Amino acid sequence: MTEFPQLAAFQRGHGVIRLVGHRGARGVMPENTMQGFEFTLACGVKLLEFDVAITRDGVPVITHNHHLTRSVARDGSGNWIEGDEPKLSSLTWKDLAAYDVGGLDGQSAYGQRFPDQAYLNGARIPRLSDLCALINRPGHGDIHLMLEIKSDPDRLKNTQARAEIVAAIVDEVRTAGLTKRTLMHSFDWDLLQECAAQAPEMPTSFLTQLPENDADVGEDEATQAGPVITRDSYHTLPDLVSQAGGRLWCPYFLDVTADTVMRAQDLGLIVAVWTVNEANDIDRMIDLGVDAIVTDYPGRVQRKLLDRGLDWLPRACC
Ligand code: MG
Repeated sequence: MTEFPQLAAFQRGHGVIRLVGHRGARGVMPENTMQGFEFTLACGVKLLEFDVAITRDGVPVITHNHHLTRSVARDGSGNWIEGDEPKLSSLTWKDLAAYDVGGLDGQSAYGQRFPDQAYLNGARIPRLSDLCALINRPGHGDIHLMLEIKSDPDRLKNTQARAEIVAAIVDEVRTAGLTKRTLMHSFDWDLLQECAAQAPEMPTSFLTQLPENDADVGEDEATQAGPVITRDSYHTLPDLVSQAGGRLWCPYFLDVTADTVMRAQDLGLIVAVWTVNEANDIDRMIDLGVDAIVTDYPGRVQRKLLDRGLDWLPRACC
């Protein structure tokens, strides 16, 4: 089996459970923005999760949904966008740069999920290349990327579109020299197979979620992109991920069980649970022995780990 140097950064160790900042630190800073990523790194978080989609002119950009969402995006006049939410694939990079994504509309259902998120003016949807440039700055050599590729719901089974999306993203990561610090991460298992074929030097990370636990109000649905999973067949997932060539399994935290975590780790998979935000849930995931916790609130996970005599990084020895 190929060994990938980046896997060690996501694997638990003695006294260490890894901490991954979800979209930066969505609970407190605007998600998937450079300001959010810089804040997260300043908190001492070394693993960043973020979402990548492609513009009409083929630019990989960091954003979650396949349309500009009115709860997040303000137009050039500072107003929440009205009418139809434009699809990302209909906009060029230059078009996108006109929108401000530095805050949430507190009246929206999505905005109400994150009442503590800071409200900034002038934050733009970054390009993948912008984040790569940040990670390549001096002092950031220990930062690793959990790069989630979003599948366009209208082109889920379009093999040519899939190949083009993966090629554009892989090209950016290779150009930045970050293939040894990046995981390719997705709910779309077909996309991950394409990643493995085009970029065998990067490991794949398989996201899953039971449909009945889908509670991502105000966001694109994820469950339609992966295999059909039920509670009855859930125990087979670690084996399916392993057989598909995955090196990480990333289950939704409400789905996962002690038996499936153990089975996955027995198979040599790293288990990174998402998105764990409440203290009792963080405790439960620590007790389950997961490798990594993906969270919108890195500070909450840091505090919980420290309270329990744990850490998110190996302590310097001797
Ligand atoms: Mg994501």
